[in-house]
Amino acid sequence: MSAAPYDTVVIGAGPAGYTAAIALACAGCRTAIAGPPHNPGPDRDTRTTALLQASVQLLRNTGVWEGCREHAAPLRTIRITDDTGRLLRAPEVVFKSSEIGDEAFGYNIANTELVAALRARAKTLPNLDIIESQGATAIEPSDKDVRITLAEGNMLTARLVAGADGRRSLARQAAGITARTWRYDQMALACNFSHARPHDDASIELHRKAGPFTTVPLPGKRSSLVWVETPGEAKRLLTLGDEAIALEIETRLQGCLGQISNAGPRAAFPLSGMSVHRAAAKRIALVGEAAHVIPPIGAQGLNLGFRDAAALAQCAGTALAGGGDPGGAGALAAYNKARRNDVASRIFAVDLLNRSLISGLPPLQAARGLGLHLLGGIAPLRKAFMRQGLAPRSGLPELMRRCAP
Ligand SMILES: Cc1cc2nc3c(=O)[nH]c(=O)nc-3n(C[C@H](O)[C@H](O)[C@H](O)COP(=O)(O)OP(=O)(O)OC[C@H]3O[C@@H](n4cnc5c(N)ncnc54)[C@H](O)[C@@H]3O)c2cc1C
Repeated sequence: MSAAPYDTVVIGAGPAGYTAAIALACAGCRTAIAGPPHNPGPDRDTRTTALLQASVQLLRNTGVWEGCREHAAPLRTIRITDDTGRLLRAPEVVFKSSEIGDEAFGYNIANTELVAALRARAKTLPNLDIIESQGATAIEPSDKDVRITLAEGNMLTARLVAGADGRRSLARQAAGITARTWRYDQMALACNFSHARPHDDASIELHRKAGPFTTVPLPGKRSSLVWVETPGEAKRLLTLGDEAIALEIETRLQGCLGQISNAGPRAAFPLSGMSVHRAAAKRIALVGEAAHVIPPIGAQGLNLGFRDAAALAQCAGTALAGGGDPGGAGALAAYNKARRNDVASRIFAVDLLNRSLISGLPPLQAARGLGLHLLGGIAPLRKAFMRQGLAPRSGLPELMRRCAP
């Protein structure tokens, strides 16, 4: 059975996929999203996402934010402390959003709540169909459209496919886009916990020899934790009971958040990276982790995915509004151009930051220490660094900009 052709079909119903589908529908494209429900049941996602301002703005502009607001906590302060115990120790650096005139750097929300809010909003859009499926089994691009076969046997056609099907993307393969992948000898433990003292809307980032240990505020006296460790240590932490892990967290935090309790379900993620030589080809545009994977340092991964989604909606929407083809060569070239520098610079910066932390080489340690020293002491440099961390120098897609008051 074949449904009427869509302007766009999004493959993958994770956070990047839903965001792309909603953005594309809001840009006027007749859209469908197809994929299995995101992490249902006991294997639910333990991660949270610190959504930076532009990502929150995208959610506001597309009518999703109302469903997120009560589950999200503002992030107003970031405190970075060198806990490497090395001879060349960097000074503590504190970033405050008020210093750059912003109410918050962004908001932190559990991935499960984020996907639920996205899905609820997607259901209300008349030009967006949600097709629950075990997934696409074949994606076949041709000159005029793309044919998608789903596991259940039904077939969809679209002029543009947004491949949001994660790091082992079938869409990427169908587009003939090759990926470069690499691994780090590190794992990230992710969980959420309660604490006796208030977090004061602050994130605590301890730079340790094995990687960063980062808490990010959640509503109330709760925070999320991303704890980067050696694989052996991460596996040991995974096996600890609830009280033992709470004590480990408390020890690392040296009392900053008081007594720790209710460290909920935990999961560990091997750290890896992936980049592609182009973001789109053959009527298929990649979005989210289908297009790039970076370690969970500096809250960049899904924020990049949101920028993919907003940029793709702009390229496809502009083509469609002008009577053109949303999956045509012009729209894909515009998307490739829009995403190239932003993605490459984030992959480079996060990789460098991580390697400078885990490397024992004194020159790298000295450079990292000097960098933090300069950021701590020179306010204009600190402000420029904060602005660059929040949004790319090249500017933001329309859907991520503030609406005129
Ligand atoms: C510990 C940790 C903390 C993080 N914290 C942050 C943070 O604070 N801020 C931030 O910006 N990023 C963060 N990230 C990164 C962020 O979690 C990821 O970028 C994001 O989850 C990727 O979403 P995605 O939708 O691209 O991919 P996925 O979540 O992998 O979704 C892909 C979807 O595609 C589906 N799929 C796969 N194959 C098919 C198919 N053939 N057909 C149909 N569907 C298919 C899958 O079932 C899945 O639902 C963190 C990552 C980690 C590991």
